[in-house]
Amino acid sequence: MTRALLTALGDALLDERRQLTADELAAASALPDAEVPALASLAHEVRLAWCGPEVEVEGILSAKTGGCPEDCHFCSQSSQFDSPVKATPFLDTDEVLAAARETAKLGASEFCIVLAVKGPDERTMERILELVPIVRDETGLNVAVSAGILTDDQAGRLAGGGVHRYNHNLETSRSFFPKVVTTHDYQERLDTCELVRKHGMELCCGVLLGMGESVEQRLELLADLRALDPDEVPVNFLNPRPGTPLMIRKPLGPLEAIRWIALFRLALPRTILRYAGGREITLRELQAAGLTSGINALIVGNYLTTLGRDPQEDLQLLQDLKMPVGSLSKVI
Ligand code: SF4
Repeated sequence: MTRALLTALGDALLDERRQLTADELAAASALPDAEVPALASLAHEVRLAWCGPEVEVEGILSAKTGGCPEDCHFCSQSSQFDSPVKATPFLDTDEVLAAARETAKLGASEFCIVLAVKGPDERTMERILELVPIVRDETGLNVAVSAGILTDDQAGRLAGGGVHRYNHNLETSRSFFPKVVTTHDYQERLDTCELVRKHGMELCCGVLLGMGESVEQRLELLADLRALDPDEVPVNFLNPRPGTPLMIRKPLGPLEAIRWIALFRLALPRTILRYAGGREITLRELQAAGLTSGINALIVGNYLTTLGRDPQEDLQLLQDLKMPVGSLSKVI
């Protein structure tokens, strides 16, 4: 029965080249733990067939850290919690450029400027629009931006200003969202994602797994993501931060994380699926396994408020796996 299901999923995605139905995904999510390696192996085949062998490498920079008025319960940048992360003003141009140059040296193709804000005010918009062409022209990197909820006019200006990809995460399902955020709603996030699309920027829309959501809620999130059809989905795992309401949660187990990486790949066969925050504490020794379970992109170096591992370790891992570093925007 289990093997028959895996065969049927493979036939659908590899031979018929069609998307899985919601029922097929639900059945895959219920496979026993012993079948996770087989599920992961199928997800790897699907990734190679739909996306090719390249892995996209990206650096991110927190250009304005902390002091955010929102109350996302997982986030140490919220000013509503007593977290050790202290608010800092917008970095100056030289600091941003220095970080972008370091990212370019690693062979990366994307550089994302991230701001801890609900949405950009006019001064922030002007700074972003000033920085984007400087970084792009000085480093040759595609510049992505993450600056919260946008208006229609702001999305149009960012697209016109050369922002290649805009990040705005759904994080979790609509039904679970109010348990972890009360200062804005899920629909506001979806609306921004749609504006990004409307104005022709690539959409990067991430998730955060391990906040206490159920399997059904993860499937619900997958359905929303499939409707949005983002270019990229960063997969974050909760790294419980001191001072935040979710500090008491235990990180996901490595095998559960691999199962969900594989399921995200099966649900989103042509999307760039990026390893993002929390992978080190969640996957531990299984980090390489994620790259053969459907992941085809990495954030290297540090995250917004936590340290990642040495980028050279990730580049070595890609070499060991014989996975070429490349820009996926051009191939997908
Ligand atoms: S996740 Fe973003 S909007 Fe929420 S508190 Fe953190 S910085 Fe603010």
